[in-house]
Amino acid sequence: MGQRILIVDDQKGVRRLLEELFNREGWQVFTAADGKEAINKVEECLPDIILMDMKMPKMNGLESSKAILQNHPDMIILMMTAYGEVDVINGAMDAGVKKCINKPFDIIVLKDMVNQLVMDNIS
Ligand SMILES: [Mg+2]
Repeated sequence: MGQRILIVDDQKGVRRLLEELFNREGWQVFTAADGKEAINKVEECLPDIILMDMKMPKMNGLESSKAILQNHPDMIILMMTAYGEVDVINGAMDAGVKKCINKPFDIIVLKDMVNQLVMDNIS
């Protein structure tokens, strides 16, 4: 399939875990360590979906998502939030983020969510 996914997280371990997971599934994987880098990476790789961490230094996931959606209104963004961040989740959905998943998450659930979001977008 060769679809592209951009993984944005300030934690190296999370990036590596998700990179391996989606590589194994046949995705072309790109990574960014903060919200600012994510904005630049989107222009470089034009991903089919972005997996975006909320809490990051420099620029958080919400600010980054807003900036990306301004240039790419149809971009699919799945935000990784902390449990109980109801205001953050509502703000993200208002900004055009497609879905949120609580950290820590089950990687099977995450994988299914990503596939579903991309499939819904094609059909
Ligand atoms: Mg973080």
